[in-house]
Amino acid sequence: MTLYDEIGNAIGELTDLRSSGSKKKIALCIGHNSKAQGAVGDEGISEYNFNVEFLQELIPQLSYHNYKIFERPAISNYTEQQNQMHTEIAEWGSCDIAIEFHFNAAENDQVHGHEILYLSKGGKKLAKLLDTEWDQYLTSNDRGIKQRESGNGYGFLKRGSYKSIIVEPFFASHQHNFIKNGDQREALIRSYIEFFKKL
Ligand SMILES: [Zn+2]
Repeated sequence: MTLYDEIGNAIGELTDLRSSGSKKKIALCIGHNSKAQGAVGDEGISEYNFNVEFLQELIPQLSYHNYKIFERPAISNYTEQQNQMHTEIAEWGSCDIAIEFHFNAAENDQVHGHEILYLSKGGKKLAKLLDTEWDQYLTSNDRGIKQRESGNGYGFLKRGSYKSIIVEPFFASHQHNFIKNGDQREALIRSYIEFFKKL
């Protein structure tokens, strides 16, 4: 271990001590499933595949809280997909926060920007916190935070007693900015690191 590693570990332990008691369990849920993969971006990568790969890169860079990836089963019934995933989250135990990862799609490929969906008051707070980071780090339009009271996103947001949000950091026709070597990928990763630090 180098001296830098040792210093890094010592700082990490101090940080843990200082904020002990507020460590959260955070479920990172992949939107769609391995069979019905959601929208496909301009680089040909589906929502499902993009987010599987993105979270694998992101998670090792996150600290402090407990993170776990969840995904929906590859069955056709949306309600049953959500039921099964949320049952797994419940079995994980005392989850504090659940986030479902997507990206957006529109007929008009000029449309771009980031938005976050929520349902509950707690979800709204989370959405605001992340939107603040996105406004700072991402160059795309702020499409704001939106309360979702029906439709597919609602099926995710209404389940569980934890706070939850659905994240849509970009539109499919702007995926090139967020793939590896895309000019916004680092910014998106950095925004999540800062967001999780503030929870
Ligand atoms: Zn989606």
